[in-house]
Order: sequence, then structure tokens, then C-alpha cells
Amino acid sequence: MGAMDEGLRRLRGGPYVCPHCRLPQDRVATLEHEWVLLEPEVEVPAHLVPAGHRWITLSDGRVALYGVCPPDGSQRCRIEHRLACAQQPLPDLWPWLTALREENARASERRTDAEPPRLPEVWPDAG
Ligand SMILES: [Zn+2]
Repeated sequence: MGAMDEGLRRLRGGPYVCPHCRLPQDRVATLEHEWVLLEPEVEVPAHLVPAGHRWITLSDGRVALYGVCPPDGSQRCRIEHRLACAQQPLPDLWPWLTALREENARASERRTDAEPPRLPEVWPDAG
């Protein structure tokens, strides 16, 4: 492969610099003929990544969202750079947890009594 080919290859598939943190991202084609910007050289066990954010590499080099739930214990996946970017706010990774936090914010606002803080109560079916 000549220097020109190498330059072309880099132009097409080389690292795309993140406009927020200026670190390189991998621009990878998806099954849906779109592009996704993935964190370079990071593969994590799928079960550690929230559903809907698990990108797996296919045999042709493209990536697709991993739909198996619960994930296979040995499946590894890639994540978008925006999840790892220090300069971007995290998206809503756990919608149920966000809903619980919002509900708690409302419950907290409804409390008008000035009780002293107590230790957290144990949930009835915990343990
Ligand atoms: Zn970034």
C-alpha cells in the first residue's frame, strides 16, 4: 500500500476529532447506513453498558446495536465517544432511574415539615 493509499484510508476512516474535547473518535458505519462516533480502542462487557448503547462490530466492519437482553455474559461492545467525553453532559442512560429521581424531587418539594434528617429507611422487600 502506497503513501497515497494510506492517506486516503486515513481520510475516509481515520480518527474524527471530537469538537468538544479534541480527542479522536472512530467514525464507523452502522447497519442502517449511518455513521456513529465510537470511543477508540475501548471494548467493555455488554452487561456493563445500558441497553441501547451497546454497539457490536459485525464481520464486515460495520457496527450494530446489540439487541440481546439480558446480554450474553461474554459479549463485548463498543460505546459512543459522547458517553466517555469529559466535555459533554451524560445522556439519560437509565430512564427508570431518572424517573425515580424526578419523582423524589417532587416528593422532596411536597415535604413542608421540617423534620431532622433520618437514616434512609430500608425498603420492605430489600434483602
Ligand atoms: Zn469529546
